Amino acid sequence: MLDGVFAGVEGETPRFYPLRAPDDPDVAAVAETVSRRTQALWRKNGIGASDDGEAEDPLMRDTPWLAGLYAHAVRGRIATGPNTGKRLRTWGGSGESQDPEPSARRCANVDGFSVHANVSLPAHQRATLENLCRYMLRPPLAVERLERLPGGRLAYRMKTPWRDGTTHVIMSDDELVEKLVALVPAPRFHLVRYFGILASAAKQRPSIVPVPPPASHTESYGHRDSSEKEKPHARNYSWSQLMARIFAVDVLGCPRCGGRMRILAAIEDPSVARKILDCLGLPSRPPPVAPARGTDASKSPNCDGQAGHLR
Ligand SMILES: [Zn+2]
Repeated sequence: MLDGVFAGVEGETPRFYPLRAPDDPDVAAVAETVSRRTQALWRKNGIGASDDGEAEDPLMRDTPWLAGLYAHAVRGRIATGPNTGKRLRTWGGSGESQDPEPSARRCANVDGFSVHANVSLPAHQRATLENLCRYMLRPPLAVERLERLPGGRLAYRMKTPWRDGTTHVIMSDDELVEKLVALVPAPRFHLVRYFGILASAAKQRPSIVPVPPPASHTESYGHRDSSEKEKPHARNYSWSQLMARIFAVDVLGCPRCGGRMRILAAIEDPSVARKILDCLGLPSRPPPVAPARGTDASKSPNCDGQAGHLR
């Protein structure tokens, strides 16, 4: 949300007018409206609690196994395996109430629709912006809060206990995978939607969105074929920068002398690559692909039951 409005005369660049911060009743009213209008939209489209309408839900129709995983996940139930339909096991509480205790100001929760409006980012505070982006992009699981119990099950500790006191969720390995799959968005589903003047089709959008800086330095490769790197996306991160950001590995640092390495050639012929890797004593074959194990999900008409349908 913008913390103000853009307004102006036709043909001129819109001016930004800051507004006062919302108070708790404002945020509650937004949550109330979102809940009411979304549920009205569901009823209109025949999606919702009634069973007769569910055939119209395109997700249910096209990928019933995925829709089933989502539905069980939001209800805190298990969708596959021997405990299908049962509630996830928990510690510390009844496991009934999944909402954490409402604590912060400017937060509201109506029928499962939550609105949080207590974070504001003043202009040009890049570090605060980065913090928010990191929060939004955080991985689905904090590995340090996951532990293997003596019996072989997994316990995942909540960062904030649920309202009923639940502190841990107990899962088998397969149930954990099932819950992770439920976090993968459905095909072509957008997780971030812009609206108003920020929407991609908004007429005035180009006049308020800053222009990105011109393409800067790109990594230079040792070989002469430069056609690849001069494409319009050349300002994107280089391969080595991506490896450094994602895996925290400096792939161009020489492990022996600490100097900088340079790419001399790309070897694409598998037999040549294999010979070189074998000669250096490095792994030269990809790990074997394990076939997917059968679950009810694999019986879906959209899935041939072969390996890899969840990838
Ligand atoms: Zn070296």
